[in-house]
Amino acid sequence: MHEFTKDVEALAHEVLAYSLERLKSDPPLDGPRTEQELFAEVGNTITAPGLGGKEALKVFTDVLAKACISTDHPRNLAFIPSAPTEYANLFDLVVGASALYGGSWQEGAGAVFAENQALRWLSDLAGLPQSAGGVFVQGGTMGNLSALVVARAQARKKYPETTRFAIACSAEAHSSIASAAQVMDVEIIKITPDENGRMQGSELGKVIDEYHRSSHARIFAVVATAGTTNLGIIDELVSIGRAAHERDVWFHVDGAYGIAALCAPSVRALFNGVEEADSFIVDPHKWLFAPFDACALVYRNPELAREVHTQHASYLETLHDDSWSPSDYAIHLTRRVRGLPFWFSLAAYGTDAYSEAMEQTLTIAKDAAELIRKHPNLELLREPELSIVAFTRKGWKKEDYQKWSEALLADQIGFIPPSSHNGQSILRFAIVNPWTKISDIEMILATL
Ligand SMILES: *Cc1c(COP(=O)(O)O)cnc(C)c1O
Repeated sequence: MHEFTKDVEALAHEVLAYSLERLKSDPPLDGPRTEQELFAEVGNTITAPGLGGKEALKVFTDVLAKACISTDHPRNLAFIPSAPTEYANLFDLVVGASALYGGSWQEGAGAVFAENQALRWLSDLAGLPQSAGGVFVQGGTMGNLSALVVARAQARKKYPETTRFAIACSAEAHSSIASAAQVMDVEIIKITPDENGRMQGSELGKVIDEYHRSSHARIFAVVATAGTTNLGIIDELVSIGRAAHERDVWFHVDGAYGIAALCAPSVRALFNGVEEADSFIVDPHKWLFAPFDACALVYRNPELAREVHTQHASYLETLHDDSWSPSDYAIHLTRRVRGLPFWFSLAAYGTDAYSEAMEQTLTIAKDAAELIRKHPNLELLREPELSIVAFTRKGWKKEDYQKWSEALLADQIGFIPPSSHNGQSILRFAIVNPWTKISDIEMILATL
């Protein structure tokens, strides 16, 4: 079974040829099909004798792959899409072929060393001290939860009398914060942002003080969003960090989408204050040109996280020496070295290339906003702060947006599902792909 037979070798060539072709050519947009349609074409693929590699690959390439929307298509501007570099994708093949284990230093020292250098780059961009460190986890949801669990453990240590805890965040915070609160069985206090959609330290401080006066519960963490997912708005990090720390509250920055732009000089100042964070996250699979799934989770004082997240079991104790084991810094044990494709690409291309690619997406976002402002049928919702451009179509109702979006995908022009803001339907372009050109934007705007 493990022999590299002629059959395996032949399949290897086919797999590499397919992968290479996918990387070389413009990605197809494609789209979903129903389960019935897919079953009608491929039937039950799990059989006692097996399909054989060649046939199973064909089922995937001919049918299943085409029923998946390519997240790296230049006119896929939905949610937050993805745009991995060729190097990152190629290196993912190497990771796949190497059976690397990323949970402990003992087993994965070389890989963990490389991941940690990539984390160091992010931590340095944020201005955290050299003692900061962390781990790549599956996604922002898991990163936020892991950080918040550490924050609560600190609060429990400092306030042993307190039994109920709460998280404070903006009303615009990502849904993963509410999910973390639910998993942790803590309350969530939503702060009303200012008229620009930004949470401010002054309002936050008032709400925390009032909450602590009127409740036996304690706010153990403040979550600021550095780039909201819907509109790309960055909370007022300086005043929020101050308001949190003056009250002995953990300051977490959710930069799953936005913190990537720390490497873009033109917008770096918007993130001032992030250097005071006790923890932050950023998803390289969003706007740092890495494949799914990778969230960088960084702690100011990783020792606090190690105390909370290290799993103890008789068979694991041999791993608990002074070395750095990624398993110890989040809610996970076994992990693939998911930060390696990002590391390889960063190491190979250099950080200047990242700054340039980032600026390119920011420029396209600005130019897209300009085209929307001039468009007779459209209204720009607000000037883009980062690379999300939100707007409305004059006279359209919810159903009109939905119909337009479905037609756009059916015609294989682009993928732009409608969103909403303050109860109003909106459209948004999330531009994270340096291959998205202004001509792509024009092509979409021509249908509006
Ligand atoms: C995408 C996003 C998340 C969740 O990240 P996943 O990787 O999808 O789990 C959290 N916060 C913000 C601000 C996001 O944009």
